[in-house]
Amino acid sequence: MDVVMEYLDTYVFDGVYDKAAALTATAPLPRDSLLRQSLSLFVFIYAYIVAFYFGTAGLSYRFIYDKNQEKHPKFLRGQRFLEMACASRALPTITVMTIPWVLGELHGYSLVYKDWARYGYTYLFVSAALFILFTDFCIYWVHRLEHHPLVYARCHKLHHKWIVCTPYASHAFHPVDGYLQSIPYHLAVYIFPMHEYVYLALFAFVNVWSVMIHDGEYVASNPVVNGAAHHTVHHLYFNYNYGQFTTLFDRLFNSYRKPSAEIYDRSRRNSKTVQNAQAQDIDSALPSLEAKESKKSQ
Ligand SMILES: [Zn+2]
Ligand SMILES: [Zn+2]
Repeated sequence: MDVVMEYLDTYVFDGVYDKAAALTATAPLPRDSLLRQSLSLFVFIYAYIVAFYFGTAGLSYRFIYDKNQEKHPKFLRGQRFLEMACASRALPTITVMTIPWVLGELHGYSLVYKDWARYGYTYLFVSAALFILFTDFCIYWVHRLEHHPLVYARCHKLHHKWIVCTPYASHAFHPVDGYLQSIPYHLAVYIFPMHEYVYLALFAFVNVWSVMIHDGEYVASNPVVNGAAHHTVHHLYFNYNYGQFTTLFDRLFNSYRKPSAEIYDRSRRNSKTVQNAQAQDIDSALPSLEAKESKKSQ
């Protein structure tokens, strides 16, 4: 991240802080001031996440998302805009809560490194695989615990308002929910070393992946990859498929549910018979499941 901040300081922030200092007749905040770094990080992370969210979800909605899903009986009126509004409310708070992790990284407390050869070139691939496995394991448990009655209603219920999702549901959650599920991505580089560019690339990838698992387009029926079909099962039937990237931990900890064949078949999944049957299943099971998980946290 220091590469990004150095670039932004040189081309954007130095000028901004100089102007602010001139206007207020004070000395400009130096680059190593914690206040300046926190303010700059807020601006950068917020702009990045908003641009990334609306850009990626917008492209996915325009070119990939199967809009027939919007005719599903469980699709809410104006849902796409409700999802956007929900995400827009969550992102500023998530940005603020993210700043300490990045400040720690800027001040050298993380294990992010710059020299490509420092741990060998093979390690670049090993660290990427480790990052996916580590974050998948952690998010599995964060997500599964968010379904616990003590926290579900306060924290995670909002994301389950979207039973049939659009790509805009990817970041449409309570800010604490979004933050908790993002902690493993920040924590990873405090536990094992990662090259700064590998880390930045994977950070962009996980944001794209979040959109992809909500876009309703089930490209592959790979049993290992937790794709849109698996996450659709989570939104439809609630307490299955908590994983993010793989189905490994759902299989290991007995929460795996295989998506039915019609979910992969565009014409069958859009048929009224299939959609009405799904709606009936949800009506008969979901309210009691949600009530059970909400009970203690009301
Ligand atoms: Zn959930
Ligand atoms: Zn979701």
